[in-house]
Amino acid sequence: STTIAETISREGRNVEYPQKNGRPQWISEIFGQNVFSLKEMSKRLPKPIYSTFLKQIRGNEIIDKTTADAIAHAVKVWAMERGATHFTHWFQPQTDSTAEKHDSFLTLKCTFRGGYEETTALDTFSGSQLLQSEPDASSFPSGGMRSTFEARGYTVWDTKSPMFLQEGPHGTSILYVPSVFISYNGEALDEKTVLLRSSEVLAKATMELLDMLGPKSEDEERVKHVHTTLGTEQEYFLIDRGLYSLRPDLKITGRTLLGGLPPRHQQLEDHYFGKIPTRILACMSECEMELYKLGVPVKTRHNEVAPAQFELAPIFEEAMIAVDHNLITMDVLHRVAHRHKLKVLFHEKPFKGVNGSGKHCNWSMSTDTGENLLEPTAHPETNYRFLLFLVSILKALADHGGLLRAGIASASNEHRLGAHEAPPGIISAFMGDHLDDVLNSIEEDRPLKVFGSSQFHSVRVGGTVLDLKVASLPNIARDLTDRNRTSPFAFTGNKFEFRAVGSKQSVSFPMTLLNSAVASSLHSVTADLKKQKGDKKFASDDDMRAVIKKYIKETKKVRFEGDNYSDSWVQEAKKRGLPNIDNCPDAFAQLQEKRNSSMLHELGVFSESELHSRYHILMEKYAKDIQIEAETLRTMLVQHILPCAFNYRRELAEGANLLKTAGSDSTPELNALKEISPIVANIQTAVGKLEAALDEFIKIEDIAQLAKAAHDSLAVHMEEARSHADVLERLIANKHWPFPKYSELFLNI
Ligand code: ADP
Ligand code: MG
Repeated sequence: STTIAETISREGRNVEYPQKNGRPQWISEIFGQNVFSLKEMSKRLPKPIYSTFLKQIRGNEIIDKTTADAIAHAVKVWAMERGATHFTHWFQPQTDSTAEKHDSFLTLKCTFRGGYEETTALDTFSGSQLLQSEPDASSFPSGGMRSTFEARGYTVWDTKSPMFLQEGPHGTSILYVPSVFISYNGEALDEKTVLLRSSEVLAKATMELLDMLGPKSEDEERVKHVHTTLGTEQEYFLIDRGLYSLRPDLKITGRTLLGGLPPRHQQLEDHYFGKIPTRILACMSECEMELYKLGVPVKTRHNEVAPAQFELAPIFEEAMIAVDHNLITMDVLHRVAHRHKLKVLFHEKPFKGVNGSGKHCNWSMSTDTGENLLEPTAHPETNYRFLLFLVSILKALADHGGLLRAGIASASNEHRLGAHEAPPGIISAFMGDHLDDVLNSIEEDRPLKVFGSSQFHSVRVGGTVLDLKVASLPNIARDLTDRNRTSPFAFTGNKFEFRAVGSKQSVSFPMTLLNSAVASSLHSVTADLKKQKGDKKFASDDDMRAVIKKYIKETKKVRFEGDNYSDSWVQEAKKRGLPNIDNCPDAFAQLQEKRNSSMLHELGVFSESELHSRYHILMEKYAKDIQIEAETLRTMLVQHILPCAFNYRRELAEGANLLKTAGSDSTPELNALKEISPIVANIQTAVGKLEAALDEFIKIEDIAQLAKAAHDSLAVHMEEARSHADVLERLIANKHWPFPKYSELFLNI
């Protein structure tokens, strides 16, 4: 209760927003100021060096020593002007977060003066330091791909992602060099290398198809390059740090392992888009300010469905950059929340009974001429180019839905998937009424049904007009796709939204798998179209329509427009032969399935050993995550809950005795005692079973069995113990309860 009193009287943090001409600076004025952008490079580098660099990022040239040295020097000067003392290769091991090791710019130069050695301190940063660094790789997860005696790992500068500055201690700063992390043999040890490979493979496959289609119009600029675009909507919880620190489960595992719902939580649906609490808004705004400086285009902030839950969404960017930016966003949120005495929770399900968090990945493909390949335009029914890409994506889902499911599996996301707030373990795609009918009409060779009351509206391409029936309000354009919030993979206007991705995970892996699966289907679609086209230079409309029709039929089973949370969908999906993977070990096993693994090998995204190591790391992490939870829960029950229950029981018994001796009625105390005693006994029994299960668990050596035991045994025994403890929480005197309850965690912000 002292902590609660403290949280209430806590003063807000005073943040100094950068000022100019007596007003807060505009976003456009601070945006990207801590980024060594292309613009900054072009200002600071000799022309030939800059143009070599540009060629390099397009993959057409290798950086030589002179270029590297020149860039290193320029970035060092830029960084030192901004207080940098250190640099770090910043990389993404398979831990869902990032890694860094700082080196200072310090070098010593020895000169001899009059027979004496004299050392001078210098600040230097060489081209080779920029290009490559060699952290000891033995302590990062490698899934057995690398034994400790060959523990060499290299971080290599990823030239596509710009360098940036982060705050260091005492007003200094640190230069961050985005990097990939590979083994001595060039195998990917990180999330980024495979993402880069998959993006290149997808870009190439897309170009092959586009080349066969010819220009859309005569004066159309030729597309030379395509890339994937990504916008990640990040959901998170913010709770008071003082209360957080009193919950060992939150601190150790990121979620509450105990606790029942307070009378009021999310049932009034008043939190979503509600007024943002002042203290939260201050934290969000400081966070955004830092993100603007780092060139992260954050756009939207709002309250989410659950109490204390919020969301932040950026403007989409090239996928590789968007992934880096999402990781930076999570890091900044974490650090800034600290300053506001708040704790950010990225776990997918920190609280039982209210909604969890996801990270919707809005994904599309764009050309270097600025065209979104998933833009349906006003007439998707004859936009064959669009439809070819659409069916390719549907085919990716139809062929590799299980693999995509593996990409979002984790011990934490399992609590959310299929829990009536997020899509189940069945991967399907939502098209929206209009597009669904476009596909059906092509399949059935019939004209389109007319949509809504009005014709296509000329103001908004691809929309219809919605009459609001209020004279003073303007009519608005309606998107062709309405929303289906229950679909794991929904077409939303001009992009797909992969909604099943977890809030805590790096989106790199799911994006890598998606890119690869789509690249692979593009190869089949392209091969079919090539046959259809014959000797002609470009495919005709009829050629395209024939191929599209074939794939519409083939992929029909993955399209679902209904409620994905319903039981009937589970039955229906079963009939259609779609996999419904409801646990992690089964999901990870998809990485070992021939149809998936051979696709990934053939594309060159994963080597056999890389994929096997991934499987190993994921299974092991899953098992360890649950083991840590089980051990934490045991400790909480044995060291906190049971002793408190014993105290309360003693208090009741002593009270009853005293009342009896005083000749008064002791029945109420005895009733209370009778009510809680069996529950305390149940907790004790459940703890005993959990302990026995843990003892068995640690004897298992085989990784697949270990993961299975985590799921079938540990998780089940934890749930059992929790169910009794949650009953006790409702019955025991508040002063005896050792942890802050949900009601306090939700409301004290
Ligand atoms: P919501 O899904 O919550 O309604 P929006 O439709 O506004 O939100 O957009 C969500 C995200 O989708 C934003 O991050 C936005 O930048 C991103 N987005 C929009 N267009 C594309 C695109 N072509 N490619 C990738 N992401 C996109
Ligand atoms: Mg969304």
